[in-house]
Amino acid sequence: MIVDFKTLSRRLILSAIGLSKVYYLFPRARGRGVIFTLHHVRPLQNHAFSPNALLEITPEFLEKAIIIAKNSGYIPVALHDLPHLLKNGNPSDLYICFTLDDGYRNNKEYAAPIFKKHNVPFTIFICPGFVYRTRTLWWETVLEILRASDSIDFDFGSGIETIDVSTLFKKQKAFVKFSKYVETIDENQAVEQIDELARTKNIDPFSIVERELMDEKDLKELAQNPLCTLGGHTMTHCNLARVSEKRLHEEIEASCKSVSNISNHSVQTFAYPYGFKSATGVREFNAAQKLGLKVAVTTQAAVIQNSDLDNHTGLKRISLNGHYQKKKYVKALLSGLPFKFL
Ligand SMILES: [Zn+2]
Repeated sequence: MIVDFKTLSRRLILSAIGLSKVYYLFPRARGRGVIFTLHHVRPLQNHAFSPNALLEITPEFLEKAIIIAKNSGYIPVALHDLPHLLKNGNPSDLYICFTLDDGYRNNKEYAAPIFKKHNVPFTIFICPGFVYRTRTLWWETVLEILRASDSIDFDFGSGIETIDVSTLFKKQKAFVKFSKYVETIDENQAVEQIDELARTKNIDPFSIVERELMDEKDLKELAQNPLCTLGGHTMTHCNLARVSEKRLHEEIEASCKSVSNISNHSVQTFAYPYGFKSATGVREFNAAQKLGLKVAVTTQAAVIQNSDLDNHTGLKRISLNGHYQKKKYVKALLSGLPFKFL
């Protein structure tokens, strides 16, 4: 698997912090705790070309992370309880929340039993477009196209190009090009064009959704689990910062309403798709607040602070990332220190 320079340098920083235990000198850097972001939880896939590897961890690593957090004194809590606990809990308590985005089938198969074994609450953010099979996951579709191809013909905006994707390096480069394409042109159109390309390669993009993501029946069953809470994640998994004010409200409101119908509970939590700085900001935080959400989360990395009480629809999360599946990395992430450097 190709690991980029950024990942390597982050590993070095995390290793230095995790192994030196320098964090014992700066206990206040831990803030009030951590909200972890997860996606896939499944056994190692072992594919040479895995550009989405950061989005998956093994069940063993999830269990290890829970044990490390508990042994380090963190109290596992449900995300929707966090504002109340920050305000009324013991100020020296450290909290840990586990959140999983998109609703992958393996969350139910592999993650839920581990959370049950350790009595840890968790929140899964659901996109009804995936649940009802009206929207595809472009990053998984592109992955399959590139794994299946040596060459592709595609219009990235300036006419049809033929791209050689015959080597691992070229596939990686093409994946980045597709990611930039989705981020720059109308996202609905981009997803449709990628789906169209998949069909020319005899790949059905909706069969990927069916294979990877839970449907309504699965979610209704999972919602019976007292440790599990379902949250909203928009209808179409779009970059909210790039849509109109009207659509921004519709995407949040309709997804929460749909998820509430599935779970039979009012939805209090929401995750902004992608969650990075160019996908969410003050306009989106205000929209989530206006729609009455108790907590909304980004993927911008930081520990929880007391000041987050004033910004409960813009809480930051730390990715429990497939590139960092070691004890020393978890210790470093929990310490809060890496976010002074990264
Ligand atoms: Zn997502």
